[in-house]
Amino acid sequence: MGNVEVRRGDITQIVAEAIVNAANEMLLPGGGVSGAIHRAAGPELAEACKLLAPCPTGEARITPAFRLSSAQYIIHAVGPRWQGGRANEAQLLEKAYRSALALARTHGLRTVAFPSLSTGIYGYPLEEAAPIALRILLEEASSFDLLLLVAFDEKTYLTYSKVLQEMGTASR
Ligand code: ADP
Repeated sequence: MGNVEVRRGDITQIVAEAIVNAANEMLLPGGGVSGAIHRAAGPELAEACKLLAPCPTGEARITPAFRLSSAQYIIHAVGPRWQGGRANEAQLLEKAYRSALALARTHGLRTVAFPSLSTGIYGYPLEEAAPIALRILLEEASSFDLLLLVAFDEKTYLTYSKVLQEMGTASR
């Protein structure tokens, strides 16, 4: 819909001014998408992150993309760990997306690619996370040329695609 798109792929292969990392509060490499981004950007990324840590849940930090030539910047956003749904997870997830977009805006970036924050190792239910993520991207889309949600696996791709389609139908 418009300038918000869902794509299937590996975020380290996506051409965008900034890609977003699903980071942890210590901004350490870890597994999942963070491990992939750190491998692609090289050891300079962990050094840069060390200087910016900690990053509380819901906040974001920005670094260069170092050896990752498909992007200029990496925005490290910390989504919440799922704890059953009564620990403010929805507000914190929304805040993580908004913090990343606010940093992109202040740096004048026009294209930003997100992974599905919190729905991997952090265990946030995909069906609940997708409408939150897409609502924020749609709300903020007018400040950007293109906002991408990059899904690594088929289930994530199908869920986000369906939710985006439903949101498009609902707003017509
Ligand atoms: P979190 O700890 O926030 O849950 P994860 O990295 O474990 O972060 O998972 C977030 C999402 O990123 C999951 O949907 C996972 O499948 C996906 N993912 C893992 N590797 C990549 C990648 N290279 N590109 C895009 N998404 C990825």
